[in-house]
Amino acid sequence: MPEPTPPTPNAPNAPSTPNTPSAPASTPASVPTPVPTDQLHFALPPQHATVEEERRHRKERLAAALRLFGRFGFEEGVAGHITARDPEFTDCFWVNPFGMSFKHITVGDLILVNHEGKVVEGRHHVNQAAFAIHAQVHRARPDVVAAAHSHSVYGRALSTLGELLDPITQDVCAFYEDHALFDDYTGVVVDEEEGRRIAVALGPHKAVILRNHGLLTVGDSVDAAAWWFITMERSCQVQLTARAAGKPVLIDHANAVHTREQLGNDLVAWINYQPLYQQMTRSEPDLLG
Ligand SMILES: [Zn+2]
Repeated sequence: MPEPTPPTPNAPNAPSTPNTPSAPASTPASVPTPVPTDQLHFALPPQHATVEEERRHRKERLAAALRLFGRFGFEEGVAGHITARDPEFTDCFWVNPFGMSFKHITVGDLILVNHEGKVVEGRHHVNQAAFAIHAQVHRARPDVVAAAHSHSVYGRALSTLGELLDPITQDVCAFYEDHALFDDYTGVVVDEEEGRRIAVALGPHKAVILRNHGLLTVGDSVDAAAWWFITMERSCQVQLTARAAGKPVLIDHANAVHTREQLGNDLVAWINYQPLYQQMTRSEPDLLG
């Protein structure tokens, strides 16, 4: 897409005699001309011609999202995982290797795990909780390309209350009537049946709060799933902070729905995420190795 062009002095709506003596001293020499909107840069999710290109793209986005989660302090020990469905082998997903810091992960470190939990590409183990939960979510939701889960502090704190996010800010309205509560806790999730129950609780929504555990978000791209996680974690922080300070005012139902329709889709999430992706690839380009 071409770069914006500067306004021209001979634009049709510029004053014809801007410097005549009768003109007031404050009259500008020329009126800036609007740049045609089709000449303004606006990024949209890329389309790829081959599965190889799409795979590489998803892996780059996945490595960047994991590094970003590390930067945000979302990792705690070996807990936490982000998965990206393979574009060709759609019952397999790419995921961070067990025991490796989010902050160090490169594209080459990612592992591919099949529907049985076996590593089919890469040389590291998979976190069994990552397989148990994410495999069932990917299976239940063919529309989902990526899923993110970690034990981030505010999501974990809110999860102990066993309740949903309230519509108390513009941002959190993205989740209004579009997230769920998995109202159970039975230990570290290592079996498929527990993963299946989490997938059922998630239903058609973009996120689920796992009681006494943390947050899980999904999206039609890695960027969308990562953005939903980041903004959901912040919304948990806002809710807990506001409640500690007083009694937050709820946005009414109609306006909460309206705001969700404005902000709550995966394309908006993707757009919101781009500045973060730019930060990561510019400051840590080795992640693409
Ligand atoms: Zn967990």
